Amino acid sequence: MTITPADILSEVKEKNVTFLRLMFTDILGTLKNVEVPATEEQLEKILDNKMMFDGSSIEGFVRINESDMYLYPDLDTWIIFPWGDENGKVAGLICDVYNPDGTPFAGDPRGNLKRALTHMETTGFKSFNLGPEPEFFLFKLDEKGNPTLEVNDQGGYFDLAPTDTADNTRREIVNVLTDLGFEVEASHHEVAVGQHEIDFKYTNVLEACDNIQIFKLVVKTIAREHGLYATFMAKPKFGINGSGMHCNMSLFDQEGNNAFYDPKGELELSETAYHFLGGILDHAYNFTAITNPTVNSYKRLVPGYEAPVYIAWAGRNRSPLVRVPASRGKGTRLELRAVDPTANPYLALAVLLECGLDGIERKLEAPAPVENNIYMMSGDERKAVGITDLPSTLHNAVKALREDDVVKAALGQHIYTNFVETKKVEWASYAQFVSQWEIDNYLYLY
Ligand code: GLN
Ligand code: MG
Ligand code: MG
Ligand code: MG
Repeated sequence: MTITPADILSEVKEKNVTFLRLMFTDILGTLKNVEVPATEEQLEKILDNKMMFDGSSIEGFVRINESDMYLYPDLDTWIIFPWGDENGKVAGLICDVYNPDGTPFAGDPRGNLKRALTHMETTGFKSFNLGPEPEFFLFKLDEKGNPTLEVNDQGGYFDLAPTDTADNTRREIVNVLTDLGFEVEASHHEVAVGQHEIDFKYTNVLEACDNIQIFKLVVKTIAREHGLYATFMAKPKFGINGSGMHCNMSLFDQEGNNAFYDPKGELELSETAYHFLGGILDHAYNFTAITNPTVNSYKRLVPGYEAPVYIAWAGRNRSPLVRVPASRGKGTRLELRAVDPTANPYLALAVLLECGLDGIERKLEAPAPVENNIYMMSGDERKAVGITDLPSTLHNAVKALREDDVVKAALGQHIYTNFVETKKVEWASYAQFVSQWEIDNYLYLY
């Protein structure tokens, strides 16, 4: 799909677009935008990459004295939002962030992912594909319109109405996504009460990451319209499953064949797949700060809630970190189950791609698959077969990130430094906070 400036100008007229959102993502993964009236004069400026903004107020972007940034819209990301009013429609474009001298800004997560893709191309692959499985909770709003922790259904995995009263909300989300050009593959109630999942078909990673960002906006907007609050926080409630965002990944070669598939290979997986897997497992401990970037992310990665805790892989068994779903041929893929939806998708996927490529370059061998339930194994049994743990806190994860040159290079100096600084502050603030759990457990005892 290639959209030209002329296409955009005619769509604006035809569809009565009155506002244009220019969107980009900050280091923490938050979608940002400047909204511009879709006048001819403004459109000309935007399409000519002349839209300037002040980068100094964006988290982890730049210092005050170097704050002028430019937005270069990617025309292929053109969408018209379905929630315009009588004043006309709102359209959107996802942008890359550039410096005033015309070079890509090193702190732009989307630009950074493109850098990783350029590296991938030099190694001979044509595309890196992602099929994400984002999960989220729908909570009721209170009288003031603020979110509560009260769910609006008692549904469980794949349940139908009437238990699943969020059915309509989810269905409308899917309709809107479909209108926006998403290929939604499945939508269902998840295991926990109030929890849902919507899966979309794999595409090249850049488009998939853009889709994740738009997806979150759509889910939150439609939920609000139904009087609900949608959250992608990793573990909003103690005692029930948290929300993950499993990432199904594959590499295609120049001919468009899936490079992970080999009908003659062990489990019908190619050498490339095993090396990529070897790279993912080798760096897993160190990249977790990027795939699971909040204090709260680590409350999800505990035994008993279908989220991974240990570094291992398996063919079918769902307990390990990486699973190989059953489909083969074009659909051959590795499913990384640690990622949660608080991850900045552009950063997470740049890092995963570079770790996989590192495995391919170094011809790393994946360890043997683990087909037993890891959660039933004792610590000694796990040790005997070389299964190690994922980091247990954000603090440990960030410490590990600092030890890994491949992960650091995948982020680039600018993003790496800003990410670590931000996360250190986040951890320090959390570590000093006295929680209700401590009061409940210590106040009376001591
Ligand atoms: N919610 C689980 C997680 O935290 C996944 C559950 C599932 O998809 N079967 O990853
Ligand atoms: Mg799923
Ligand atoms: Mg799921
Ligand atoms: Mg899955």
